[in-house]
Order: sequence, then C-alpha cells, then structure tokens
Amino acid sequence: MRKFQLMIKAQEIKITGLVQGVGFRPFIYRLAHKHHLKGFVENNNLGVRVIIEGIANELNSFTKDIIPEAPQASSIDHISSLEIAVRHFDSFAIEKSSSVSDAVTEVSPDISVCPDCLNDMKYQERRINYPFTNCTNCGPRFTIIKDLPYDRAKTTMHEFEMCPECNKEYTNVLDRRFHAQPVACKNCGPEYTLYYKEHKTNDISTIIDSCCNLLEQNKIVAIKGLGGYHLACSAFHDTTIRQLRERKNREGKPFALMFRDLDAAEEYLFIDNDEKELLTSWQKPITLLKIKKELAPSISINLNTVGAMLPYMPFHYQLFEKLKIPAIVLTSGNISDEPIVIDNNEALERLGHISDAVITYNRDIHNRTDDSVAMVTNGKSRVIRRSRSYVPSPIRLHLDTESIFAAGAELVNCFCIGKGNQAIMSQHIGDLKNLETLDFYTESAQRFERLFRFKPEIVACDMHPDYLSTRYAKSLGLPIVETQHHHAHIASCMAEHKLDEDVIGLSFDGTGYGDDGHIWGGEFFVCNLNNYQRMAHFEYIPQPGGDLVTKQPWRMMLSYLHHYFGNDILTKHANLFNGIPMQDAEMVLSMIEKGINCPLTSSAGRLFDAVAALIDVCKTASYHAEPPMRLESVATDSSLFYPYESGKIVNMKKTFEGIINDLNQHVDVSLISGKFHNTVVHIIVDQVRWISEQTKIKTVVLSGGSFQNRILLKKVEDLLNDSTFAVFSQSAIPSNDGGIALGQLAIAAKRRALGLI
Ligand code: ZN
Ligand code: ZN
Ligand code: FE
Repeated sequence: MRKFQLMIKAQEIKITGLVQGVGFRPFIYRLAHKHHLKGFVENNNLGVRVIIEGIANELNSFTKDIIPEAPQASSIDHISSLEIAVRHFDSFAIEKSSSVSDAVTEVSPDISVCPDCLNDMKYQERRINYPFTNCTNCGPRFTIIKDLPYDRAKTTMHEFEMCPECNKEYTNVLDRRFHAQPVACKNCGPEYTLYYKEHKTNDISTIIDSCCNLLEQNKIVAIKGLGGYHLACSAFHDTTIRQLRERKNREGKPFALMFRDLDAAEEYLFIDNDEKELLTSWQKPITLLKIKKELAPSISINLNTVGAMLPYMPFHYQLFEKLKIPAIVLTSGNISDEPIVIDNNEALERLGHISDAVITYNRDIHNRTDDSVAMVTNGKSRVIRRSRSYVPSPIRLHLDTESIFAAGAELVNCFCIGKGNQAIMSQHIGDLKNLETLDFYTESAQRFERLFRFKPEIVACDMHPDYLSTRYAKSLGLPIVETQHHHAHIASCMAEHKLDEDVIGLSFDGTGYGDDGHIWGGEFFVCNLNNYQRMAHFEYIPQPGGDLVTKQPWRMMLSYLHHYFGNDILTKHANLFNGIPMQDAEMVLSMIEKGINCPLTSSAGRLFDAVAALIDVCKTASYHAEPPMRLESVATDSSLFYPYESGKIVNMKKTFEGIINDLNQHVDVSLISGKFHNTVVHIIVDQVRWISEQTKIKTVVLSGGSFQNRILLKKVEDLLNDSTFAVFSQSAIPSNDGGIALGQLAIAAKRRALGLI
C-alpha cells in the first residue's frame, strides 16, 4: 500500500480561454474518470481550475487529452500546470464556483450540432433521423433560455417531459448528455410539422422528402431555424429568387446561401484556409466569400462576393442528404426590415403568403437571433453581424463595467450590459426605425436584465438626440453618459483589444452626430477612453435631402461636383448625369444653392457614395451601403492613385478632377475604383504620420463601418504596420454600428473609474 502511494502525484491545472458555459467542467469530470484520477474542477475568474491527483502516467495522458478532446464550443488560450502536494481525495467532483458571476457564465450561445450527435442520428435507435438530437457539446442554448439557473424548467423545453432513457443520460455524469438541458429523443422531444396546401404531417421522413421536392421544383419554403424562421429556395433558379425578393419586399440586398458541405461550397466559391476555418467553425456564421462560379445572378446581383454558410442544425443535414441541389438560398423569414419571425402562428399567417409551404416545430424560440455574418480580412476573421452562436458570450475588459447599460446607436443596433469586468453584447436587433424593431429592442433589454440579474445604474448612449436608442436610454431616468458616435466606435475597438492609453483613432463610416451639430464620419482623432480631440476630418460637403442620399447616392456626387466645380456642372458635365432625370438634378442643385435641407457632412461613406455614382456603378441604391460595396466589388488591384490635399481638412478636389479626367479618357471603371481606394489609403497613412509627428503617438485604432471595406482595411493595415505603427482593428466585434455599444460601455466605465460620473 505504501509503495502504491508513492506513485501518486498531484497537479493544479489552470485553463484559460472560452471555457465556461460550454460543458467544460463535465468534460473534465469524464476525462478524470477515464484516467482514474481524483480531485475537483471549478470555474474561477480566469477560466477553469483543476486540482487533480493520481498515477503519474494517467496524469500525463489526462493533460495531453484536454486540448484535442475539449468541447467544440470551447477555445483554450492557455493551459498551465503546477505540481502540488497530494491531498488524497477519494473522488473527483465538480465544485460550485464561488468567485465568478455564474449569471454570466451559465448562458451559453447556441452550438451547431456535433459529429457525435450526427452519428447518433444514424445508429442510436431512439435518435435515428431525430432532428432535435443534442448533447452537452451542441444544441440550442441562448435561443431557448428564459431564466436562470439554466435548467430545463427555465427553458422552452419545459413542456417536454424527459422519457426514462433520456433522464438516465441526463443524470449520469459519465454520459455525453449529463445535464444537457435540451436533451430529447423521438419518444419525448419536440417534433417538426409541415404545412403544405391542405396537408399537414409530423412524419420527419415525409417532411424531408416533401421539402426536397418543393425546393427542387423551385418553390419557396419557410423553415423554422434555431433563432427564427428562414425562407428557402433553390440557389440555381433565378425566377424563384426574384419572386422571393418581390414577395418579401427586399429589392437588392444580397441573399445568404447554405451549401451542402465544404466541397460543394468550394466548387462555387474561393475559400482560403482562414476562410475555411471560419466557415466550418462551430458558430457556422454566414461567411462572405468571393464567387468562383456563378449560381443564380439575383442572389447578390453583380457583386463579386456572396454570404455562404454550412448546415448547423440536424434538420439541415437531413435535408442536404436527400436534396439533389448542392445549395439553397436561406434568408431571414421576415418582411423587409422587420425582425425575423419566431412565432409559429405568425409564421403560418405572414410567411405563409410568401412561401409555398411552412415547416415548423413545437419547441418555442424565446430569444430571437439572426444568423451571424463574418468575413476574413488580412488573415483575421471579422464579425460583421454578431448574433447566433456568438451571443451572449461575454467580452472580457480591463475595466469595471458593473451596472452600466449601453444603448447602442440606430442602424444594426445591439445594446450591451456590464457585469463585473465583462461586457455582454445583445444579439443583432436591427435598424431602430420601425415599431416592431423598437419592441424587440425594449423586450430584449428587459430580458437581459432578468437573465443576467442586471440592474442598470448608469446609461450610456449616442449624442444623437433623435436616435430611438437615445430616447430609450433617457426614459430610464438614470445618470446618462452621452458619447460621441465616432469616439464610441474607436473605444469599441480599444475595448476589444484592452487598450487604455492615448491613441490615434480613425473612425470612418456613414453618419454620426458631431459636436458642432454637423454629420461626422471621416474622422481623425487623438483620443483615449475618456476624451477625444478631433485632429482632422474630411471636408464638409452639403448632403442634399439628408438621409435620402443613402438611397440616391447621385445626390452626393452632384454635391461634390458642385462644391469643387461650381454652378454650371449640369451643363459642363452633362455626360456624368446620364440616367438621372434632369428635373431632379436641377432641383437638387437648387437645394444646394439655397441651402435647403442640406446638412453638412464629413462622412467617408458619403464620399464613397459620390464616387460610386460618379463612375456609374451605383447611381441609386436599393439597400444600406450598396454604393461602397459596389465600388469595392469592381475595383482592380493597382498601385496608382489620385492627387489629394491632406491636412487638418482633407480636400478631395484634385481626386475628383483626376477621376473625371480618367472617365473622359475612357479609363476602365475598375481601375478608377482601384485608384480611388488607393487614394483614401494614402490619405490615411499621410494623416496618421502627420498626427504622430505632432503627438508622438504610435498606436493606431481603426473602426467604423467603412473599415468593412476589405481593400481599405488590408492596405491601411499593411502600410501602417510597415512603418512601425501598432495598428488595431476590430475582429470579434463589428466595426459597424453593431459594435458601438461596447465602446459606449467602455467610455462610461472609464469615466466612472476616473470619478467623473
Ligand atoms: Zn452533440
Ligand atoms: Zn427521450
Ligand atoms: Fe457609425
């Protein structure tokens, strides 16, 4: 006995990264059990801590197995182990943690179905072809949770009573389904229903077969997804796709696709290794990819990219197993800009008119979440819309954020709450312009309060007095921190990278309320989390008709031309106004001359609008940010650029002269666009150097929706990195207004820490 004890060793293992709320402790338990080890596992502020003892060999294998066998939703940053004194535990236990806010860590995002569950759907009798198969490593989470503690009774699974077999799995700590709250099987779980004309069926094989037939026959099918309904149709039949556009009142905005698998996607799209990693990650986001071989033209209408995703629910896999076409359009089930439909009756009523059949299931979606959207630029993934499978994973900050509510901006709104040193961003809410979206916003804000045991004490919002998010913030009757839009963009990027210093901050986007009441958006700041100084900006140009220019970018073109070349542009440059009714152009010109409804803007987005209209790739737009997307899409790579005047006020007169010159010489618009992109890149680099000379600051932070432009971001990052600047751009958090709430939160937290609130 004595000899045996000598072989026992003990270790303290610390694992950091995304290891909480993803089934990590039961995983460690099972691994310890497999290797006959004793001790315990617990969550702490940094991640997971394991005290483990047993035979040395087994201890080594245990440590070696952690990374390759970890739950798919986890991501390990670092493992450290330290030999400690043996304490002779008699078992292995999962300890309740004392030092972390469990409210945060218990709510996991939804996780795409895991390979083991897909395997169970083939071989485990109770789960053969059962589309609600899940385990601790996969399945619905945030979308079904109503309250804490996270157990079945507090989810929308509460009405499904576990059968004895499921219960056995649920209560056996060695089972993969131990404490998997949504555990279910054929005998006890939810089921799908197909409504097609007068028919209705619950038989899953029939539903899959009918769905395949309908899609192959170019029909539109509404299918209930994880966080809301989708509308699906063949990705190869243009007429159907145009019909879908018409019926859901979505004129031009690109549709997302779902491919059968990676091989199918690679046949139609260019996918590099970084993009492959993103596309196949457990979050399965819609990934923006370059088109290799055209599918139906109406999917993204002349753009060179498309958003593609891979199956993530069991139903998707079952569908593609039978479906003869390798890709379908899979777009949010909603009308126009309303929130995605989640209610079954509403789906039957409203989506029933859009689709030829409706496939629903009887487990409710509690928290609506859209598919997330991401892309890769400069080898890094960039989340553009942070929703399904990302929310509500917390973002760790270096600041105390407790009890701060950040209301977000207006477009692609997300709000954010502070818990301890963590920030929890809401799912994508949408454009806060209609009543339905505002209801969704208010409801979600209230739900976050309850779910995370959050009581707001300070509210951060945009300075814009008319944003509905600002009004909501003010209606709470709490101390308010108003943040300048572009300062919040830069602070969002700083928070993501835990920066807390003076930086050169660039915020390029479409619109944001400025200190002087003008519309800002091409901004060069020197700032920290508390303060900002506007060092330089693009020249102010009238924005005739206000927001209307986003639909009619030719108005910005006219405004720029008028500003630089005078009153007679309509006669002098008549050829540039092809396709625009002369009457309209004259009216806009007279608005500018008289200064009627012409707010001033320094927006980079509006500059891109003007150039897109000028080179005639987008004179009128049918969706948000279409002009810059088209401009980027046509650009060819070159090293040429136009002249410009940088400085405190960036003057683009020479750039416009250059473009018009090129147009008159019939230079290809692809080259003009490439040269224009380079011009903006050069301006940025010049400005950054100039500001750095004055301030000695070497840290550069890039944010704002314009940095979703891949050419711009890549070239600016490459050039600045080459010249000894440390450059930070957004990756996990959107650089568009969807990420702004994080910046608002960080600013408020910093000001509070400084005693300014
Ligand atoms: Zn699973
Ligand atoms: Zn069961
Ligand atoms: Fe913005």
